[in-house]
Amino acid sequence: MIPRTLFTAEHETFRNTVSRFMKEQVIPNDDKWQNQGYVDKEIWQLAGKLGLLCVGIPEEYGGAGADKLSSMILIEEQAKANISSLGFGVHSDITAPYLLNYGSKSLKQKYLPKMVSGEMIGAIAMTEPSTGSDLQSIQTTARRAGSNYILNGSKTFITNGWNCDLVIVVAKTDLAKRAKGTSLFVVDTSMEGFTKGKPLKKMGLKGQDTAELFFQNVSVPQENILGHENDGFIYLMQELPWERLQIAIGAVAKSRAALDWTIAYVQDRSVFGKQVGEFQTTRFRLAELSTEIQIAQVFIDRCMELIQANQLDVETASMAKYWTTDLENKVVDECLQLHGGYGYMWEYPISRAYVDARIQKIYGGTNEIMKELISRSIGLGVNKK
Ligand SMILES: Cc1cc2nc3c(=O)[nH]c(=O)nc-3n(C[C@H](O)[C@H](O)[C@H](O)COP(=O)(O)OP(=O)(O)OC[C@H]3O[C@@H](n4cnc5c(N)ncnc54)[C@H](O)[C@@H]3O)c2cc1C
Repeated sequence: MIPRTLFTAEHETFRNTVSRFMKEQVIPNDDKWQNQGYVDKEIWQLAGKLGLLCVGIPEEYGGAGADKLSSMILIEEQAKANISSLGFGVHSDITAPYLLNYGSKSLKQKYLPKMVSGEMIGAIAMTEPSTGSDLQSIQTTARRAGSNYILNGSKTFITNGWNCDLVIVVAKTDLAKRAKGTSLFVVDTSMEGFTKGKPLKKMGLKGQDTAELFFQNVSVPQENILGHENDGFIYLMQELPWERLQIAIGAVAKSRAALDWTIAYVQDRSVFGKQVGEFQTTRFRLAELSTEIQIAQVFIDRCMELIQANQLDVETASMAKYWTTDLENKVVDECLQLHGGYGYMWEYPISRAYVDARIQKIYGGTNEIMKELISRSIGLGVNKK
């Protein structure tokens, strides 16, 4: 094994805290949350108390000002715990950074401390019923009216959508333009005209609330715009590499966990008087998966070094997202196969990992879109003749 060199002793102490939180507070509730389709809000407040939310937010807004490696640890431990419910990543490492990086001082003061404590749950709403991959074609509008914007439209598939207290909404401030007419707004549930649909029923991540959001003549104060009007697309492009790397981190950690469960299982299960793990086909298959996971880990760890130095580019993040989530889906499929019929039973972690893995190739930009971005970076843009 190639030793990982990213983490300090302090990081490892933090990892123990996160791992204990997962074991004691989250895993025992995961089935209940899966059945109801959302987590109880108390878990957010508890996580806030323990310093597990928005760890990267600076101390002046109540956070720990920690580095992205701490976020990586949170993602890895959640993946290892095989949790199908928490939307902490979207809240802490996707939504909060938009506020931090593009929000005015007063917006940050108003919302970030409450996000750190778990009093307010955040979400980000880009996708609409009629458009997901083609983000430039969104139809939600924000029309200026005096010192406010009037927001109209709907969003779908929004993680934390049922539980959220504030949402970053991607809307068109100039419908005639595509990317250059896009702006980002902080909308909170106290604003009249903002309503939510019920949590959507999904094939996996069943405890994570995913919902539709509706905006009907919502009056959003001008100070709730992030950055400058019409620059929203630039901000999205700046933030997406980290969002995609987070998905990749989870994919590698889940692949490793699935491999570990399977190595244990094949040594325990006997067929034709032999352990399943003694068949050469099993040993070679697991050796191959182990190799690919190791390669993925080295790549992801290098991407972490780059993102910490603000040097991770769009195409490398896209490579990480598409390749590791494809790998994760291959790993959970082949590991489930090695469990035989037991792999199909809900009480076995591999069956949960299998259904949860599928979305990884879709959200955060589909893997086809990742290949589109990579192909452009190697000079194969659509409009090139
Ligand atoms: C559980 C879950 C959680 C989610 N969370 C969020 C969230 O928090 N916030 C949010 O805004 N969104 C969220 N999404 C939405 C997600 O990001 C979108 O579903 C995704 O981007 C794909 O968009 P779409 O569903 O509209 O598919 P479409 O864009 O309709 O794509 C359909 C198919 O066409 C392919 N395709 C599209 N364009 C091209 C192209 N140019 N070349 C080749 N193939 C192409 C796609 O890859 C896909 O296979 C979530 C979705 C799910 C299911």
